[in-house]
Amino acid sequence: MTDVAQKLAVVIPMFNEERNVAGLFARLLPVCTALGRPFEIICVDDGSKDHTAELVRGLQNKHPEIVLVRFARNFGQHAAITAGFAQVSADWVITLDADLQNPPEEIPNLVCEFARGHDLINTVRVGRQDTFFRKRASRFTNALVRRISGIRLNDFGCMLRGYSSEVAKGIVRSREYRTFIPALATLFARNPVEINVAHAARAEGESKYSLLKLFSLQLDLITSFSVHPLRALFLVGTGLAALGLLLGALILILRIIYGSHWAGDGTLTVLGILMIFTGLQFFAFGLLGEYIGRIFQQVREREHYVVQGVDRAGDPGQT
Ligand code: UDP
Ligand code: MG
Repeated sequence: MTDVAQKLAVVIPMFNEERNVAGLFARLLPVCTALGRPFEIICVDDGSKDHTAELVRGLQNKHPEIVLVRFARNFGQHAAITAGFAQVSADWVITLDADLQNPPEEIPNLVCEFARGHDLINTVRVGRQDTFFRKRASRFTNALVRRISGIRLNDFGCMLRGYSSEVAKGIVRSREYRTFIPALATLFARNPVEINVAHAARAEGESKYSLLKLFSLQLDLITSFSVHPLRALFLVGTGLAALGLLLGALILILRIIYGSHWAGDGTLTVLGILMIFTGLQFFAFGLLGEYIGRIFQQVREREHYVVQGVDRAGDPGQT
């Protein structure tokens, strides 16, 4: 294959971004054209209430490489990206925010990494242009998720990322409920890389993430990639149960040695019994948590393995 044979797809989730559509395409189209390779731009309208979809439709006459996927209502940025991936007919896929926080001019750098053979291009925002609160919150979640999920990414939140079509297909096939795409992609990548990219302030409009939506997204990231919180419950439960049993037993023994007067005429005995049962209850919660964790892992329909190819004797070449 020649250098420019691979087709590029740019997937953009859009939610009420009418004020950014013109500015985005004014910068994105020249960058894509200059690459000199076939490309498609897949916009996913995530249930916008404004004219986002109409504006994108309006561009399609002049630019047939633009595809518009329309959601019936708002399903969230990560669902929108997955729906975009399902429409991709390209070898390399780049995701981008519609608000120009991810400069389209970075696309050639990602393409370079694809050409070097990487199938997942993770990114770190340099000079991040967000509020102080957002930056602190991201730092905290990035560190927490790194710790509990074991996924070693420095910036989970940057959505200017590159995925080979195989990785993108793995994400679509996973049929995962409320997932976090950059983290999910790491499970399917063979040769990932992490690069720095520039970051800008939102061009027009406001962030589409309210505090509640942001919290729920971070919770998705944490709970989708680890059952450690449940396991922690089990550990705490076992510890408390052991402590409760010990204290309970101690109180009962002391009651036998020193008589009912020492035990406040039954008060401490009741406390001892209570501690034993409370401890056992925590242990039972933890045990239930273990099973729930297993059910959770089983039902989320994540790909269990990725086959790179099947070779048989006599096949011409191996991939
Ligand atoms: N977005 C979306 N659905 C949503 C929220 C956001 O498709 O429910 C899109 C939004 O239009 C933008 C991108 O996801 O293209 C990132 O959203 P935003 O800029 O509001 O997030 P922030 O930069 O504040 O994290
Ligand atoms: Mg933004």
